[in-house]
Amino acid sequence: MTPPNDSLDFEALAAQPLMVVVSGPSGVGKDAVLLRLREREYPVHFVVTATTRPKRMDERDGYDYIFMDEDDFDRKLAEDGFLEWAVVYGNRYGVPKEQVRGALASGIDVIVKIDVQGAETIKRLNPGGVYVFLAPPSMEELERRLRARKSEAGGDLERRLDTARQEMERMPMFDYVVVNENGRLDETAEALEAIMRAERWRYPRRAMTL
Ligand code: 5GP
Repeated sequence: MTPPNDSLDFEALAAQPLMVVVSGPSGVGKDAVLLRLREREYPVHFVVTATTRPKRMDERDGYDYIFMDEDDFDRKLAEDGFLEWAVVYGNRYGVPKEQVRGALASGIDVIVKIDVQGAETIKRLNPGGVYVFLAPPSMEELERRLRARKSEAGGDLERRLDTARQEMERMPMFDYVVVNENGRLDETAEALEAIMRAERWRYPRRAMTL
């Protein structure tokens, strides 16, 4: 976005919506933090990504993910319908383009929750977004959280821990690092809100390329 030249219309500038990418290692608590943000009713569109992974017991189609079979995913790919897509732990995941564009077009901030490799891809495509890394208080704590998850079997856990260590090394590409402390979900959600409020007033705003 170019700065206003004939009038100092900073309010128009602040009305421009943001694309916020929230990432971090598996197990850090991305879902819990975003759920708390949702409960706080901060006006933002949470992008629901598509996946070919089987639905878990407690998940809802269209809310947690858009669950697709391989053919549907192929069709969506063929029509260039994903902003980013990747294979994560053997399943395909993708960010539907029209959801992001639709929300931004109506002036609403969007949050894209994605793994670190996805965040890197999106940053290459759209460096004008806001990139937030959720970090665990320590690697020991991350391991404890991953172990506490029932859906992961032993071998899978080791793989996720390995990936998590590599993901922690990508932290420098993010604009913000927010530590998701134990029992402090509200503070973490508040920090995200504060970042979004402040970014609305960033000057000059970084151009979005979506
Ligand atoms: P899960 O299957 O456990 O819900 O998610 C596995 C990983 O895939 C998580 O780290 C999650 O953030 C990531 N993920 C979810 N949607 C997408 C997406 O659209 N693109 C990419 N690259 N990763 C995604």
